[in-house]
Amino acid sequence: MVHEEIISYIESNIKPRSELLAEMEMYAEENNVPIMELVGIEALLQLLRIQQPKNILEVGTAIGYSALRMAEILPQTKIVTIERDEERYQKAESYLSQSHHRDQVVTLFGDALELEKTVEKEGPFDAIFIDAAKGQYQKFFDLYSPMLTEHGVIYSDNVLFKGLVAQEEVEQKRMRQMVKKLQNYNRWLMEHEDYDTAILPVGDGIAISRKRGGSK
Ligand code: SAH
Ligand code: MG
Repeated sequence: MVHEEIISYIESNIKPRSELLAEMEMYAEENNVPIMELVGIEALLQLLRIQQPKNILEVGTAIGYSALRMAEILPQTKIVTIERDEERYQKAESYLSQSHHRDQVVTLFGDALELEKTVEKEGPFDAIFIDAAKGQYQKFFDLYSPMLTEHGVIYSDNVLFKGLVAQEEVEQKRMRQMVKKLQNYNRWLMEHEDYDTAILPVGDGIAISRKRGGSK
């Protein structure tokens, strides 16, 4: 992946976050919550500033860090976010309540693969952000992409999985399966007829898939 030195250099130039966000970053670090990497989230936020989605679906809230950051930069935008881990869901609730953006975010507790009906009522979405169980990306994509508006964008995080997807041999068996699934997802996504996709090697790898409309 990108050289550590370069990442540190970019990070050193990123504006400091609010006290609440800094606290969330620290909590994530201490409790091994895989929130987006700083350079990765900054890149995603910039893409969202350009895209200006009015309604975003996020699969994988964790403690609400990315949801809050998206809410902050797009104050008119609604964010619907799903988390299946109860402790993290509660933590997200608590952090969001301490922010000025509670009303912008709809938090849903449960497995994203089972919440289709509930989510549908909140849609359609101009952007979908997939940042949950890596082995199930294609399922999330298939389930929620019908709720995307014309020329909507699907952002998938962690598609390079620390660079492992580019390695020929992966030692650990469990890892190997995960890597295979992500490789398959990436290939499937790049070949998808209805989307134009680019993979950016920023953070842990972000795939950006824009839906082709009738006019392309
Ligand atoms: N987007 C967050 C980080 C999400 S980490 C941020 O950057 O701040 C991924 C989260 O997805 C984990 O908390 C995990 O519990 C959740 N998750 C994984 N599979 C899920 C599923 N099928 N349904 C709902 N949540 C899921
Ligand atoms: Mg992620």
